[in-house]
Amino acid sequence: MKMQHFCEQYYGSLCQEEGAISTADNASTADRWQQIKNDMSASPWPPSPPSAQTILMEELTAALQPHLLSRTQMWELGYPVEIEPNSTKAVMYMNAPPPRPTIFTSWNVNAPEFIPGSETNSGVISTGSTPRLDSEKATEEVEHLCVRCRKVFHMTRDGEYLTQGFCSYHWGRAADGYYACCNEGFGSKGCALSIFHVWNGTNPGMNGPLEGYVRPRSHRGGVYAIDTEMCYTTAGLELASVAVVDVNGQLVYQTYVRPSSSILCYNTRFSGIRPRNLQHATKTLRDVQNDLLEFVGTDTILVGHALENDFKVLKLLHTAVVDTCAMYPHARGLPMRRSLRVLSEEYLGRKIQQSSAGHSALEDARAVMDLILLKVKEDRAFTEHHLISNQLHEFQPYTPYLLVSVA
Ligand SMILES: [Zn+2]
Ligand SMILES: [Zn+2]
Repeated sequence: MKMQHFCEQYYGSLCQEEGAISTADNASTADRWQQIKNDMSASPWPPSPPSAQTILMEELTAALQPHLLSRTQMWELGYPVEIEPNSTKAVMYMNAPPPRPTIFTSWNVNAPEFIPGSETNSGVISTGSTPRLDSEKATEEVEHLCVRCRKVFHMTRDGEYLTQGFCSYHWGRAADGYYACCNEGFGSKGCALSIFHVWNGTNPGMNGPLEGYVRPRSHRGGVYAIDTEMCYTTAGLELASVAVVDVNGQLVYQTYVRPSSSILCYNTRFSGIRPRNLQHATKTLRDVQNDLLEFVGTDTILVGHALENDFKVLKLLHTAVVDTCAMYPHARGLPMRRSLRVLSEEYLGRKIQQSSAGHSALEDARAVMDLILLKVKEDRAFTEHHLISNQLHEFQPYTPYLLVSVA
């Protein structure tokens, strides 16, 4: 059988040799022990990229098994899950977003907090037991929470705005009483202005049943990192670009995608997507789903950072998932998460998401794959360390009788 294996080098080429043997297998126990001691005592921080090692794809797949998300974890993290076995209808549970930090200098009766029924359980307002025509559903009034300014706004199901007014918001993270975008304090007037409020396509609480989802059917394996970028449309966040890399960081799939609804905001600061990128995009979400299922099978391990957001816009149901949010958890636990930018800098010594032109799906996917490989390398070193420690313990037992006889 042809043994496919890869070099754990940064973006090195895929090894196709037959029967290659890990160098560690040839080393003597003493050499391996010395190597591990050297690694553990003299490793710089942040660590250097993984040294050249060979690992079989089968070994990598096995090494990732302890890191696969359980069904419970996927549910808690907000992944879309199948409504019943083998269904392509999805449901997901979204926790309420944390309230935008606010310091009230005066009572604002128009603030969402004071509007009856405007709590985070936004949803359909006009419901009834009488069956409605499609035309009635299209003009039905729905309520959404703006993800930028946290105001409640209304639109029809077919995307017509019923709420007028500008969206004034801060785009930077809020920490220590200030916004990173402008260093203004909580409760200050927004430093960015838009003519539209925007929503992310989901509502707090239960969402679904949701249509249009696909799931892998073939029995392909492999490991791929995936990352998407999104735009705000009248239907919420929609897929605008996707990148997939293999274990060597090599790009295996990348495309821009034409959203199905009218684009309200390209979200360029974060997505890196500009109007010209989508001007000639012809791929639809359905095209991308078909493309992905050409190489993603039921046994393929997909890795990503906060991958539930990618699965939502890809409308993908998959269970073999490794998420760097769970692999490198925040010290305070969920819902706190460490950003990919911080993880990359701390563990890989590599700055990403530095461009003012926005994020790159390719750059992010490569960072995720390297974080995954680094964890596998650490796991292997930990296992070998304990294995050799136990062996040494057998060879050099503590023998009080010997000590007594010497004395
Ligand atoms: Zn600001
Ligand atoms: Zn807004």
